[in-house]
Amino acid sequence: LAVKGVQALSPYQPGKPIDELARELGLNPSEIIKLASNENPLGPSEKAMTAARKALDEMCLYPDGNGFELKQALSHRFGVEMDQITLGNGSNDVLEVIARCFADADSDVVFSQYAFAVYPIVAQAIGARGISVPARDWGHDLDAMADAVTDRTKLVFVANPNNPTGTVHTRQALEGFLDRIPERVLVVLDEAYCEYLVGDEYPDGIQLLDRYPNLIVCRTFSKAWGLAALRVGYTVSSPAIADILNRVRQPFNVDTVALCAATAVLSDEAYLQKSREVNEAGLRQLADGFDRMGLPYIPSVGNFIAVEVGESAMGVYQALLAHGVIVRPVAGYGMPRHLRVSVGLPHENERFLDALAEALTSAG
Ligand code: PMP
Repeated sequence: LAVKGVQALSPYQPGKPIDELARELGLNPSEIIKLASNENPLGPSEKAMTAARKALDEMCLYPDGNGFELKQALSHRFGVEMDQITLGNGSNDVLEVIARCFADADSDVVFSQYAFAVYPIVAQAIGARGISVPARDWGHDLDAMADAVTDRTKLVFVANPNNPTGTVHTRQALEGFLDRIPERVLVVLDEAYCEYLVGDEYPDGIQLLDRYPNLIVCRTFSKAWGLAALRVGYTVSSPAIADILNRVRQPFNVDTVALCAATAVLSDEAYLQKSREVNEAGLRQLADGFDRMGLPYIPSVGNFIAVEVGESAMGVYQALLAHGVIVRPVAGYGMPRHLRVSVGLPHENERFLDALAEALTSAG
């Protein structure tokens, strides 16, 4: 019954729920360590929590369909106009709305090999042809991606930093790429992990919007801002693009609790700073652990890292599960020798590293 593009889709494989794994292993759920979904290990910001609790009082009312307060807070933070912002139910929602607005069955949608899995899915769902461009050193080959643009191309997705590889492009490299993309082709710059980037050498997509009117910058509250469960993402673009996205998105796609928590967390600079510090230290801890075990890994700037555990990656994954540690296999990304682990708190990283050392022995 389903249309052709949808028939060919495979369902998203969610990770094993913590409670279920705990039951299987006879452990308390608090003993399970989940480092599988690039969540913020700090737990929520107190400011976000207070705002979310208060927002529950309005449970019986529809949310503000325009997200006025959140857009106002974002507009102040980034120095953009409110009519440049489109809110989504997580950034996955806006990625899907973008595809539906700007591509169709006659279009090509370009992305990189090893790029975030949602790009091929949203392309396929609308019957567009997904063009996966071979990666270079695990990262996007921006030259090859620009070369792949044809008259059929409507959208190009660039994840910077990319998930699951943690690779990133410098501002200079990205600008060189954007200079090569014709204005009729929209570039979606997915900056889900940009808050973890420190240093002038990295691009801030929002700062590039004036120069590249065909750019759509996509961000989320799920990672450094610690609100993954509440599902809030957004794009910043030209007002003309935002106008189209706003026509197609569901009118109440972000709920009141999410709107209030996201608005509140934007004023919690200390939380963001702590997120960055914990992440930086955690990345180092994990990389040091891999070095000690002699395991190659892809240097990452995200809140996760892909480590090469060899041919028996699925066996290692299963052995980690048996230790109560959940990570993410990335065979579906064409990386069958790697596992992706999210950065946790120091004791979680340590338990993962210990379990990994044991799992490598037991999985051979
Ligand atoms: N983009 C990238 C690169 C991601 O890794 C993710 C989350 N895994 C998302 C977008 C979507 O995040 P969310 O829908 O939670 O905003």
